[in-house]
Order: sequence, then structure tokens, then C-alpha cells
Amino acid sequence: MKAAEINHAACDLAFDVATSYNLLVCGGLSPTSTYTAGKGKAAVQAEFEKQCKVYNKKDVDFFLAEFFGSIEEMEWAIDVMKKYNKPIACTMRIGLVGCMNGISAGECAVRMAKRGADILGLNCQFDYNAQLKTIKLMKDALNEAGLSPFLMMQPIGFLSPETEYLVEGYSQLPEYLLAMEPRILTRWECRDYARKAYELGVRYIGGCCGFESYHIREMAEELSEERGFRPPGKDHNLPFAAGYAQSVYEHDRKKHGRNYWMNLIPNTGRPNSAAYNSERGLIHL
Ligand SMILES: [Zn+2]
Repeated sequence: MKAAEINHAACDLAFDVATSYNLLVCGGLSPTSTYTAGKGKAAVQAEFEKQCKVYNKKDVDFFLAEFFGSIEEMEWAIDVMKKYNKPIACTMRIGLVGCMNGISAGECAVRMAKRGADILGLNCQFDYNAQLKTIKLMKDALNEAGLSPFLMMQPIGFLSPETEYLVEGYSQLPEYLLAMEPRILTRWECRDYARKAYELGVRYIGGCCGFESYHIREMAEELSEERGFRPPGKDHNLPFAAGYAQSVYEHDRKKHGRNYWMNLIPNTGRPNSAAYNSERGLIHL
């Protein structure tokens, strides 16, 4: 099956769900191996063009170019997306040290906005703490340039503090990708992330690799007052595990309420498990 056929089928699936739940559908572009192979602007843009044509024909609500590691390739993608007169979102997989060609996160943000991004920010590779620091750098640079696009974040659903100064983030961990479970976010950490992102001015708050539906629901719950409605599928009578107050176990009865869960520091249950990977060159705490 060719890429165009896959994109057609994917749009049909997405529209099926979106229509039932009154959601938006986005057409996604990713970085190309044509760029990494150095085949040049025309060849790279021809690939983006093929994808955008399908999305435009399907009349998606907006375009999203995500997971870009190079601002140069991102700009080439924006040029193509701009032809179609749809809102453009752009997210890069960068952290505090900037893009793979050494351009700072702040400069990447300004260049995306100037080129035509309506929504911009970060996705993948870094945990929410690292992304919050990076998006702050982007926001400061945008402010200085007098630009105010919407900000977007989609961090990984794991914690990897020792990789925040590496170019490719958590993918440089020894546990990547098939033994990441001990680092997965708790639902309370998801609340912490959603709250901090909102306070920083981010208005497209999502999750990338490792996020599960219950994480997203918890974030929606945390921001339900700001959004004006609560997410479906949640027992609204039991916020913050209120049911524990009636537990038959005495040791459980203290576990109701925001304070207990939001201040809990979870253990891993593995006697030989260290908090961080201490391999030379990896740890930057
Ligand atoms: Zn991801």
C-alpha cells in the first residue's frame, strides 16, 4: 500500500471518530529521510506536497508538522502547508540545547512563527519538566520578537531528567524503548504537567509517546474549570480518590484528597533500581 492510500484510510478513520465526538481532525507531516540523506529542498518538499494534497482533499481541520529535529526542514514544510489556507501547527522534538543543527529553541520558535505557524511548540523526546523549561525559552524569544502564536506541548509520558541537555532526549536512554515502564508518569504528575503548562500560557496541552488515555483524562479533569466542562467517563462524585475516606483499611483512609496524591513520591519497587542513569555523558543533573 502506498503512503497516499494509507493517509486516505487514516483520514477516514479519524473523521469517523471526530464526527461522533465533535472533534477536530489534523493532517500530520513528519520529518523525511530524504532530508537526512541530503537530497535537497525540492525533493523534500515534493514529499510534503503529496501528503498535503491528500489531507486537503479530505478537508482536514488543520495541518500539524511534528517531530521535526531541524528548523530548516520545518521551514520547508511550512512553505508547502501554507499553500492550502488551513491553520498550521508545528512542533519540534527539541530540548534545551536546541535543534540538531545547533539552532536554539528560541530562534526555532521565532523562525516557525515568522514562516507562518499559527500554533507552535514541542513534541516527543523530552519529559514534561524539560519541555516546560524549553517552551519558556521559546515564549521569551517570541515575546522579544513581538510574536504571539498559540503554544503547544506534547511531552513523553515518562520521566527522563538526565537527558534534558541531550539533543535526542530519552531516546538516548539504555531503557529506550522497551523497558520504559518504571519511568511512566503517574496520573498526578499528569495533573502537575497540565497545570504548569496552562499557567505558562500553553493552550494546546497534549501527550506523545507513553501517554495513555487515563493520563489525558486526568489532565482534562485538572483543567475542567478553565475549560468549562468535565471530561466524560469520570466518577464526578469522587474527586481525588474521595472514596478512600470510607475505606475499611485504616492505612487507606488518609489517601483521600489532593494533598496526599499530589505530594506523593512514588517508589519503583525494584531494589537495584537507581533514580537516574549515571552513564558518562548521559547524566546532566
Ligand atoms: Zn513521541
